[in-house]
Amino acid sequence: MPKKIEQNEIVERSPVVVIMGHIDHGKSTLLDYIRKTNIVDKEAGGITQHISAYEVIQKDERGIEKRITFLDTPGHEAFSKMRERGAQVADIAILIVSAEDGVKPQTVEAWKTIIESKTPCIVAINKIDKPAANIDRTKAELAEKEIYVEGFGGNIPVALISAKTGEGVDNLLLLINILAEMENFTGDADIPASGFVIEANRDQKRGIEATLIIKNGTLKKGMTVVVEDSVCSTRMMENFLGKMISFATFSSPIRLIGFDKTPKIGGEFFAFETKEEALTYKENHSTQNHTVAFDMFGNKKVLPIILKADVSGSIEAIEKEIGKIKNDTAEFVIVSRGEGPISESDIKSISQPDEAIVIGFNVKGDRSAIDMADRQGIKLHFFNIIYKMTEFLEEEMEKKRPRVETLETVGKAKIIRVFSETKERRIMGGKVTEGRIELGNIRIMRRDNEIGRGKLINLEKGKVKVGGVEEGFEFGMMVESKIEIVPGDVLESFAMIQK
Ligand code: GDP
Repeated sequence: MPKKIEQNEIVERSPVVVIMGHIDHGKSTLLDYIRKTNIVDKEAGGITQHISAYEVIQKDERGIEKRITFLDTPGHEAFSKMRERGAQVADIAILIVSAEDGVKPQTVEAWKTIIESKTPCIVAINKIDKPAANIDRTKAELAEKEIYVEGFGGNIPVALISAKTGEGVDNLLLLINILAEMENFTGDADIPASGFVIEANRDQKRGIEATLIIKNGTLKKGMTVVVEDSVCSTRMMENFLGKMISFATFSSPIRLIGFDKTPKIGGEFFAFETKEEALTYKENHSTQNHTVAFDMFGNKKVLPIILKADVSGSIEAIEKEIGKIKNDTAEFVIVSRGEGPISESDIKSISQPDEAIVIGFNVKGDRSAIDMADRQGIKLHFFNIIYKMTEFLEEEMEKKRPRVETLETVGKAKIIRVFSETKERRIMGGKVTEGRIELGNIRIMRRDNEIGRGKLINLEKGKVKVGGVEEGFEFGMMVESKIEIVPGDVLESFAMIQK
């Protein structure tokens, strides 16, 4: 169905906050205190089901109600995991330090994570109710670790609190809102939701469920959510209080029930208006993952070597040299080694005649072994100089390693306006932000993630049909794509390169 696209409205988005710090410095106590004192809607079963995030409403200094989402992830392991995946789930980090114990190893570790992920931060000095609390010493210790708070050589906002008595916690919430305002977090309510998975589990009765934090857009009943290769409809959607809802927007935590597979924690989710769009995205995404998995988990192609040499000393030396020949997609594994000539039993032990490489170093092959290898089409390779052997193996590696097809981006363009659209075709206006946009296949990117592919079938620059448009120019286009494209999305022209 053709659909009219309104001018998208970018609005203020409430912050998602994570609390980090050394064990026992009061993370859970602070989260519990805020949860208990600030959640307005306590009916809904009094939050019996404890999910890893909650929302509070806090009045700012002008009496305006502001929402804050807290990630209730014990420890900061989850946060680090998400960071590893490049996900930016938290907008603001609270670094909590006990005024009694001062800076500890995990304080520094948490700080590193905060800095590396460029997350705006507030330092909360906790346990100020304790007799042994020493605020100035804590600030000085922070400065020693180059964590410079306000009034101590820096401008990191600092709150003095007691998570136990609640002293100073309101002020901390106020600081969060001030920082959020300064950082100006925004979102677009008109686009389908995207965000991150913060927890997932399988419930005996309900099936696979996950807690998601929406970072942009809106999630409505009827949409389909995809997290890499897991899919879920939005039929069963709850807010963090466990109430069924049919609509949610940023930065709310929600619970989705009915995933077909357990989604990855830290994984990014995207919502689609139709199941068809969702499945197209999933298909594209899982092929993408395939190449990555190859490298990440070391699932390399194994090239077996059978090695015979004159003395054990040369076997060791050769093994060392072979170990140096490396590739991202294949590796040599010496499946059998020994002293003496290549024998019939060496040939018999070969299970992959196509792949196995039989090497004799300073040795010959038995007649019967040579005949048997001949019959099976196995080649024997003899060397007496190590570098000749390594040269040969390098060539073999190059010949036998799996080819990886990589995608190289040729140019990027931002969508400015959608003029008209049908199910298959969209007429839009955009601007080239990088490189050159060309007719042909394109990737459709939303927040740096591919949501699908399509084809540029017409390009117009100043009302003239062209084959490509260079950086800096605005242009009109017709795109063939089943995926809805919205202003702000980026189209990428690409080429597939064999490597
Ligand atoms: P976490 O490991 O960082 O989550 O720390 P917890 O919240 O579990 O706190 C560790 C201990 O310190 C608990 O016994 C808390 O009751 C206590 N605690 C936390 N915050 C305060 C505080 O502000 N004042 C006092 N007196 N005790 C606190």
